[in-house]
Parts: sequence; C-alpha cells; structure tokens
Amino acid sequence: MLIQIRGGRVIDPMHDRDAVGDLFIEDGRIVAKPEGRNPDEVYDVGGKILMAGAIDVHSHIAGTNITLGRQLMPELPALAAAEGQPILASPAAWGSYATGIRYAEMGYTTVIEPAMIPTHAIEAQAELAAIPIIDTAGLVILGNDDYTLELLRGARTGGDELKDYVAWTLEHSKAIGLKIINAGGSEAFKFNARTFDLDDEVPDYGVSSRAIVESLQQAVADLRVPHPPHVHCNNRGIAGNVETAVATIEATQDLPIHFAHIQFYGYGDAGKKGFSSGAPRLMEAVNKHKNVTVDVGQVMFGQTVTVSGDILRQFDARGAASPKKWVINQGDGNGTGVVPYNYRAKSFVNALQWAIGLEIFLMAEDPWRVLFSTDHPNGALFIRYPEIFHLLTDRDERARWLDDLPADVHEVSNLAGITRELTLSELAVITRGAPARLLGLTDRGHLGPGAVADIAVYTDQKNKRAMFAAADLVFKSGALVVRDGKVVRVAWGRCYHVEPGFDAQIKRRVNAFYDRYYGVDLSRFGVTEAITHRPDRFATVPCLN
Ligand SMILES: [Zn+2]
Repeated sequence: MLIQIRGGRVIDPMHDRDAVGDLFIEDGRIVAKPEGRNPDEVYDVGGKILMAGAIDVHSHIAGTNITLGRQLMPELPALAAAEGQPILASPAAWGSYATGIRYAEMGYTTVIEPAMIPTHAIEAQAELAAIPIIDTAGLVILGNDDYTLELLRGARTGGDELKDYVAWTLEHSKAIGLKIINAGGSEAFKFNARTFDLDDEVPDYGVSSRAIVESLQQAVADLRVPHPPHVHCNNRGIAGNVETAVATIEATQDLPIHFAHIQFYGYGDAGKKGFSSGAPRLMEAVNKHKNVTVDVGQVMFGQTVTVSGDILRQFDARGAASPKKWVINQGDGNGTGVVPYNYRAKSFVNALQWAIGLEIFLMAEDPWRVLFSTDHPNGALFIRYPEIFHLLTDRDERARWLDDLPADVHEVSNLAGITRELTLSELAVITRGAPARLLGLTDRGHLGPGAVADIAVYTDQKNKRAMFAAADLVFKSGALVVRDGKVVRVAWGRCYHVEPGFDAQIKRRVNAFYDRYYGVDLSRFGVTEAITHRPDRFATVPCLN
C-alpha cells in the first residue's frame, strides 16, 4: 500500500530539507515519489510540521534501577499529577505500558535504556519488550565489575581479553553499546571510599578511573561498535566538578566518546555560595573536542526520583531524599541507588541546575554533538520534554521562568544574557538526526528514501509546549499509531543490538569466573530470543567497516 502525506513543512536536517512537500510510505519505509502511481491513502497535512520520529538517547525506562524506583515511589504519579502533570495520574502510568504510550503521543519512536546491569540484562530486556510502540535498545554497564578490574589490575590496558570480554558482554545482554558509570567509583565505595576522582585508584586493584575509561574506550573503538562508550563521569553533582569533566574530555585521545547528562558536571565553585555555572568552561571543551558528543540531562522543577548505578554519589545524596526514603543496593559491578528528589524553583542550587542545562544547549556550536535528554527520571520525567522545547526555542519564555527564580542565581548564571533561540531544524537535530547518527541507526532520524517510516506530524504553534505535547499524527514503521495526540493502535517495536564477535575462549574464562565466585552457570544471565514470543523482536545494528 502506498501512503502519501501531503503538503506539510518537512523538517529533515540530515538532508538539509526544510520546505513544504510530500512524503511517501510503502512497506513501512519512506520511498521516493513513485512515478505514474496513485497513492492508496492520503493524509493532508497542509500547514503542519513533519519530522522524523524522535529518538531518546538516554532515558531510564527498564531494568533494576527504575523498577526499584517504581517500588520505592508508587506515589510519584499522584505527586506529579498534583503538580499539573496529569499524564501520570494513575499508578499504572508509571509502568512499562504507559511509557510507550506517552512517548508515542509526543512523537517519539525510539528510546535507549542507558544502564543495564550485565547480570540483570534479562530483566531489563523483558521490561523493554513490554513497552509498546517504540523501538528500544539498551546500553550495558562495565567498569566497576570485578572481571574488568581483574583484567586491568596493575596494567594500563586489558588487551585482547578485555576486547573479547566487552564484545561478549554486549552480545550476552543484547546491548547496542557500553555504559561506564563513575568508573571504579562504585567498586571503591565498597572499600568505604566516599569520594573518587579521575586519577584515584580502586583499592586492591590499583587501577585508576582514567585507565578504566581509556581501556574500555579503546576496546569499543577496536570492536568497531558504532555507538562510542557512554560515560557518566566521576564527581556527579559536586560544586567545582566541571574540572573533572573537562579533564575527562581532554583524556579521550581523540577516539569517539559520549558523555551522559553533562548538566550534572557543569558546576563551578565561584560566588558567595561556592556554586556557580560552569557551562562556559564545559562547553568550551565540548565545542573544541570534535570526538566528543554529549547529552544534557536537563533539570525541571518538580517531584521525581533519581536512579543511578553511581552508588557512591547516590549514597552521598541520600540526605537530600524527598520524601525521606532511599535504596542503595551494593551488587556486582555498579549496583543501584534510588533517591527520591524534588527540584524546587525557590532553591538556589536547583534553580542554578535548571539554568546550567539550558546554557549548555544554547552554548553548543554544533547541535549534532549536544543531544537532548533529561536523563529521565533523574533531571525530570520524560513527559516534561515539551516544556523544555519551549524554553529552548523561545527566549521570552525563558525570561518568564527566570523572573521567578532566586535573585542570586543571576549572579552566577549566564542564561539571562543568552538570546539564542533554537530553530525547529536544530530541535530536529538534537532529538532526531544526532541521536540516530550517534547510535549507528542509519535507517532513522531522517526522512530520506529507505528510512523506516517513523514520522511525527505537529501543528505549528508559538507555544512549543502545546505543540510537542501531542502530535497530530504519528506513524511507526509506516502504520498510523497516534491521531490527535492519542494512541489509536498499539503495535510492538524492535530491540536493536550489536554483535561485534569475540574469541570463544572468553566464554570459557568468564564461565570459570562465575562458577568460582557466584557458583552459577553463565547461561542463567544471557538474553535470548526466548524472552518474548515475538520472533522479530531483536535486530542487529552492523558494526563499522
Ligand atoms: Zn542516566
């Protein structure tokens, strides 16, 4: 069946396209205009905006952390509703099913879960498979696990065995890439370390955080995995930590690397309160190092729950828990840390965090390297994205928010002086084109022939919050799934992963390790097709040539 979407403004920055035109869909893909054939179905979208389906590169939607977060905070939907976020009005809305529905209604069609624990990958993958409509993929965590640290003991590089171990871990958990969270810090926490910096060494292993990141970065580059290591730096959330982030960026040897939620590392220590915007310093480094991509991790005011494998920093944050309850689970590798948090506009620190995130977006010289995220749910729930799009595209809206913030925020933030407004095309870059490119998902994030027909149609409005909260139409793989901001058809997406290949010896070695330390067979932890009844659930992303 040939479908025509007729007469909308097509915004497709990957093809430098921003003009009124048509799109054609056949067999779930976008096709060039077929000569001499009439479409079977036509959608007239004159005056509307057409973009590729949006892609979220970093959102905690499945796995141990978020599940524990839901269990600890069943009241979150009610609290969010009381703050005017009615989409979370029922407890079920905090679960897998509602996650897919709400993402789709906003025009999102692919979302990446960024923190699967290797030994809990089955749980994460089963939960991803329970999310409707959107395609998904997971990043698997290494860097605090004993096997990696053992390989790096006293060495600068893990050599071929580390490379094989990384490849095996990616395949075993069906992940699209590697996540590194406070490399070595979670392990050091178990030895009672309460701070951990780039050149600190993991007790017993004698390996520095820097060496862990460098070795894993090299391994991923050698394996030709498209998505570079996705790094959560040391010292998250601490005043003055912009120096840690800049030092980590400068240590990246020109190999590709992605830094997650850098807003949480954009902190200087100037001013009366010793807490100031480090965004100019951070963005100077990001702008200069072309091998680096980042996502922002924007903060929004309101109730949320923070979930992170950075148990060292989560343990430190427990005193700020609101409501007063928290979970730190010290497991193999990173473990999990769950701390409820309420960002308040009247708090100097929270207001500054909000401003720093926006500064980072607006100081980006190349939007292809500065991607959109709130680190859901850490900076804000993903349902807040449309409000942030409004802030990024409208300086008057920013000024209105700034008026309500504590006066001393203005002394240590640059936001009030920034006049830039992102264009719709730039917004399409940071929410579509750039994430697709970064993940190696070449068949999406754009609207060229051959792309999977993931398409969002919006009514152009000055109020971008209203515009992006509810898409007029959303097509997923060519099928209409959303009309007038509501899901009209529930489909099931695919999960993307890489298969870089490894020397089979590594399986024997890792199995011996599991047998010796855990007394269990490795196969208990491996993700197989059997976790769903959908035979086409998993799809492979090719490694680079
Ligand atoms: Zn995260």
